[in-house]
Order: sequence, then structure tokens, then C-alpha cells
Amino acid sequence: MSKNKIPYKTYLTEEELPKAWYNIRADMKTDHRPILNPGTLKPVTAEELAPVFCDELVKQELNDKDRFIEIPEEIRNFYKMYRPSPLVRAYCLEEALGTPAKIYYKYEGGNTSGSHKLNSAIAQAYYAKEQGLRGVTTETGAGQWGTAMSMACGYFGLDLKVFMVKVSAQQKPYRKAVMETYGAAVTPSPSDTTEIGRKILAKDPETGGSLGCAISEAVEAAVTTDGYRYVLGSVLNQVLLHQTVIGLEAKTAFEKLGEHPDIVIGCAGGGSNLGGLMGPFMAEKLAGKDAPYFLAVEPASCPTMTRGRFAYDFCDTGMVTPLAKMYTVGAQFIPSSSHAGGLRYHGMSPILSQLYHDGYIDEARSYNQTAVFEAATQFARVEGTLPAPESAHAIRAAIEEALKCKETGEAKTILFGLSGTGYFDMGAYMQYNDGSMTDNIPTDEDLERGFASLPNVPADI
Ligand SMILES: *Cc1c(COP(=O)(O)O)cnc(C)c1O
Repeated sequence: MSKNKIPYKTYLTEEELPKAWYNIRADMKTDHRPILNPGTLKPVTAEELAPVFCDELVKQELNDKDRFIEIPEEIRNFYKMYRPSPLVRAYCLEEALGTPAKIYYKYEGGNTSGSHKLNSAIAQAYYAKEQGLRGVTTETGAGQWGTAMSMACGYFGLDLKVFMVKVSAQQKPYRKAVMETYGAAVTPSPSDTTEIGRKILAKDPETGGSLGCAISEAVEAAVTTDGYRYVLGSVLNQVLLHQTVIGLEAKTAFEKLGEHPDIVIGCAGGGSNLGGLMGPFMAEKLAGKDAPYFLAVEPASCPTMTRGRFAYDFCDTGMVTPLAKMYTVGAQFIPSSSHAGGLRYHGMSPILSQLYHDGYIDEARSYNQTAVFEAATQFARVEGTLPAPESAHAIRAAIEEALKCKETGEAKTILFGLSGTGYFDMGAYMQYNDGSMTDNIPTDEDLERGFASLPNVPADI
């Protein structure tokens, strides 16, 4: 077959876009353990979740029966403005590596929010609007999720309050400006607008804030403001569900090409882009058929799957959320402040955690951030696209797998998720470029301190 038979980019027509999301829980042999109320240690009910999340999203969160959940037309219409995302054949990277492997990536950075997060943001805003809510609250650290949510709320005419980790708001003024342009109200966190924020400020007026603290403020603002609910951009089942548009599109594109991936790779922070890319391919494995090798990649400085425990833990640092059974390094674990490469969440999606625990995800691997930025730079120079540091974890793994093929002579087909653009991460690139970026890997003692914060949940629950 001549090399150019497969195009550099494969798109789908509007008719070929997915009409339903794939709910992997319907096919999982062992479902993830239930989410628990931390007070009673009983599974949380829809009633308990109703003051926090939109009703329809609570249903999706708890749905373990329906394999496919229809994507409402209003959401599909919004998707059409920036989807399908391209499936790109990385010919130039293959050539640079001299590998017989075929490398493909699914690029999610081509919208203004710069990442895959918009796929779930628009769905969450839609259901809030449907319910007649006035607005939603959320937190943002690096800013991708807040930006995606501000675009989605701007589109549906919903109010949005974003609690943005104070140091991030100071370091990334342009992110804040994008959110404000789309109509969001951005409050640096901790703030004096919530009780928990005032408490934290009273203790430490100079604090730069943290994601855990911003979550606590956003949840408090949602439950104490009439007509508001809270939204979250990763980890939850509903977010993985919405993100399956990535994998469904990729699968259709591969079918059109008459190809199929042997390896599927994704970076994993809370697990949403990996879960979304991988899910539709995993369906075959769950049905006992031949399936690709699934590889999750995380930073060595926050090694949730590779060195964490599979245990019940809080989903936030403030310990106000329910408990989820997941791979975790402990809700109180704080990655080194020198960590610039994203993916710093302490836990992992309960769905992905269960799939990994049961061996359906074949491997989790971690890399130092300097190795990740080396791959990011190599990729940018040959493929043109500047990757998000998070996505570059997947690039690093794809390059290593392609180099293994070079040694063995195998022409494997590799698919990885390029979850976003690196435009808003130039601070981290500057550190890498001027040689000031360092690698900080937690010691076993550091991890033990995180594990010591795990709540006491009896083993038979
Ligand atoms: C948020 C983000 C991630 C990590 O989140 P997941 O839920 O693990 O996907 C990865 N890549 C990009 C570009 C992000 O913005």
C-alpha cells in the first residue's frame, strides 16, 4: 500500500458523528464500588446528590444499566461547531523516529478552551439550563476547565462563578480574561465570599490557595445560592460518559480507514480523556474479543496508579465530598511545588481504577516531567502542534512504544490522545527551555504521609 493512501487527517461527516455516548458501566464485569456518604458509610442516593448536581447528571452518574445514552440535539449542534476532532497520522514523527510503527493521535486542542474538557462542559451546562437553573459554580486550577465551562455557560446563557486557585489567577491572567470574555465571574480562591474561604484566610491571609480549597468554596457557593448547582470537569462517571465522543469518533475513523489500533495510550489526571478515548475500544475487550493494549500515563510526581493504593478516599482535599473507591495517593497528598506538568489530582476515576484493578487496563506508567517536556518539544518540532504538558505524557509513551517497534521490526498501530494545546503553559515550557525545570519524585515516606490521611472504611464495605 502506498504511504499516502492513509491521509494525514481523517475527519467524519456530520452524519457520522456519535448520536449517543457510551456508558461503559453497562458492560463492566465488576462495577466500581459505590460512592459513599462519608458520615454514614452508606451508598449516596440521588436525593443526597440533588442539592449539589443537576438532576439529569445525577441520573447519569448513577446509571450502570444503559449502554448508550442519547446525546440531546442541542449538544450535538454545539459539538458540530468544533467536532469531529481530527484523527491525525503522525507521518512526520514516524519518519523522525525511523519506526515501522504507525502512529495516530486524536487531537482535542482545536477549540478555544484548548482541551477535551469542552465535551463535558457543554453537556453539563445544557442539563443545568434544561432544569431551569440560574447558574452553576465550579473551581479551576490551571484554567482549562473554567474556560471550557465559561464557553458552555456563555452559549446557553447561564451564570457561572469560577473559583480560581489564587496563584493560578495571578500567574495566568489571560486565562482569567478568556473566562470573563465569555461572561464568567472569576473569584480568586480562597476568597471572603464563602465561609470556608474566610476561615482559610483567617488562618493564613497570604495563602496562594489550592484546588481542594477552591472545590470547597465552589460547592458551598452552589448549595447556598438559590437556583445554582456545582459542576466538575473530571473523575466523575458523567464526565467519562460525555468524553466517550472522543473514542467513538476515533473508532469510526479507524473503521473508515480499515485500520485498528494495537495500543491505545492516554494521559491520566482524573481519567476523563483516557476513559473517553479508551472506552469504546475497551467494549470489545469486555466482550471477550481481541482488543488493543491499554496504557495509562501519569507524572512521577503524582503517581496515583503506579504507586497509589486502591482504597476509599475523599475526592477533595477539604474532605467535604463523598468517598470513592479508587487509586489514590491520599487526599492530603500535595505534589511538589516544582511540578508544572498538570495531572496533579490525588485520585483517579472509579471506573478506570476498577478497570485497572481488574486487569482491563494493561499498564500504568509514569514519567518525570523533564522527560515529558523533551517529548513535547520533539513532537512540536516535527508535527507542528504545541502539546499541553498533560498530553505530552501520552506522547512520551507513544514515542517509547514506537522505538520498541524499531528494535523488534514490528509495525504496530499506536493511537494516543492529544488532549490539548500548550499555548497557556508557556511558563512551564520556559522553565524547560532555560534548564530550570527539576524532577521531584515523592519518597515512600512522602507517600506514607498521604496514605495516613485515608479514611477508615471497613474492608467489607
Ligand atoms: C484537564 C486535562 C487533562 C487531565 O484530565 P483527565 O480528566 O485525566 O483527562 C489532560 N489533558 C488536558 C489538556 C487537560 O486540560
